Amino acid sequence: MSLTHDLHTHTTFSHGNNSIKEMVDQARKLKIPKITISDHGRNHPFFGINPKDLKVMREEIDFYNDQYKDIDIDLGIEANIIGSDGAIDVYDEELKYCDSFYAGYHYGYLPDNFKNFRTFFIPNVAGQFFPPLKQVMKNRNTDAYLKMMERYPYLTMITHPGDKMPIHIEPVAELAAEKGILLELNQHHNRLNLEDLIKASKYDVKFAVASDAHDVKDVGNVGTMEEMIKQAGIDKDRIVNVKFED
Ligand SMILES: [Zn+2]
Ligand SMILES: [Zn+2]
Repeated sequence: MSLTHDLHTHTTFSHGNNSIKEMVDQARKLKIPKITISDHGRNHPFFGINPKDLKVMREEIDFYNDQYKDIDIDLGIEANIIGSDGAIDVYDEELKYCDSFYAGYHYGYLPDNFKNFRTFFIPNVAGQFFPPLKQVMKNRNTDAYLKMMERYPYLTMITHPGDKMPIHIEPVAELAAEKGILLELNQHHNRLNLEDLIKASKYDVKFAVASDAHDVKDVGNVGTMEEMIKQAGIDKDRIVNVKFED
């Protein structure tokens, strides 16, 4: 299995270790035909990009797309899921500059209002320590994913679904299929895991494998995901960004 597109990577514009050029050059070295630079949404105080940087990133990517004939480079963003009402930190500025939009749940983001702080931010962290609360949050988080897909139907992909934020994968996969939103197989977070991949594959949803590289050494690295895809027994055509050798 080889990647035709490493569609989830980070740079020094958020908290990656390398520049856009270094990540792009590494993908070229590995003969990966396409890469997406997808740094974190602005509501993360430590990892979030400065929205002003998007124009700079766009110009830099356009320049390399002109220079290099052996690779396509897209600008994306990995927005933060910030509320039980399905809010994510994506704004017009991101929409204007980016080719693709992802959303994922991360610890440490800033909620957009007090209600989301109380009903989503705090209980998701506390749920890690109190199993009964985790069950309550599983329903609420599932609802948040569903509302998010209704509010942002132009989302390209949900990153590491269910990581650090338990969900029921079946309704999420069903609506993602209807909206044409990809579910990610993220090697860095090991989500979807095998169990959820099998459940999700009952619906007509498509998947993408991603390195989530934060360093040049991880570009193109999808760890044990090939093995997991085989174990799940899903049709290879459903993984949109890989080529299988056989
Ligand atoms: Zn992420
Ligand atoms: Zn990421």
